Amino acid sequence: MNKSFNLSGRVVIVTGGNGGIGLGMASGLAEAGASLLIAGRNPQKNAAAVKALESLGAKAAAVEADVTVQSACRSLVDSALERFGRLDILINNAGINIRKQPQDYTPEEWKSVLDTNLTSAFLCCQAAYPAMLKAGGGKIINIGSMMSIFGAAFAGPYGASKGGMVQLTKSLACAWAKDNIQVNAVLPGWIDTDLTRQARKDVPGLHERVLARTPAGRWGDPKDFAGIAAFLASSASDFVTGAAITVDGGYSSQG
Ligand code: NDP
Repeated sequence: MNKSFNLSGRVVIVTGGNGGIGLGMASGLAEAGASLLIAGRNPQKNAAAVKALESLGAKAAAVEADVTVQSACRSLVDSALERFGRLDILINNAGINIRKQPQDYTPEEWKSVLDTNLTSAFLCCQAAYPAMLKAGGGKIINIGSMMSIFGAAFAGPYGASKGGMVQLTKSLACAWAKDNIQVNAVLPGWIDTDLTRQARKDVPGLHERVLARTPAGRWGDPKDFAGIAAFLASSASDFVTGAAITVDGGYSSQG
């Protein structure tokens, strides 16, 4: 392995790291030598993910946490410090969607999507900042979406949260560059996970439309995120900050 991608001794938190894209990223970091703390609400999924990461040779643990709650984000960082002694990398990946026409959302549904997808990232970044300062720097990876760029009739709050994620990324990158903390966003195309298995049920014709529009000719796989995670978490990306990088099989390049 190129030395600049080596993550031995580095400690990572991945919110929503118990499945899908989060686990795909966590696996990439595990293979690069990092120790991982994953956060999710479902204890069974958490336990299975820890096993999967340990099978890659990594030290891994999970915390049952709802990242919409500020105290839970702080406890998550405390857990990383207690278990592993430091914190270097934070991946803000937890996310949900509620698919409806804009006129049909309740204020509670709007809030739930914004709190889970965007506010949680801000709260976790705030919680992680002192530990990253202490470590002499850090890496934050925020997960956006094609809906950070494009609109969709069925995704008002989701699109608002994911557009906001890119702008939050840029603000944090500007604020914390002086502290040697790089903050970047990854914008996935259409990836085969629990989230999109539900989307394919909710939105007729989605599966075929995605295949037709994606130049790579396939849906993405969580494994497609191992490499970008290792790059953005490692010293290989030390001069990359405030970027929003698409990992989409060419979806956003197709006119
Ligand atoms: P999954 O549903 O597999 O993953 C979502 C993760 O978020 C789960 O691990 C879930 O764990 C966790 N989560 C949700 N709410 C909370 C919460 N309140 N507190 C803690 N954890 C929470 O879907 P994906 O892997 O597809 O999604 C991961 C990210 O990627 C999301 O931000 C999504 O918006 C984004 N994305 C996905 C795309 C795709 O095509 N799949 C495309 C673009 C972006 P648990 O249920 O145990 O809490």
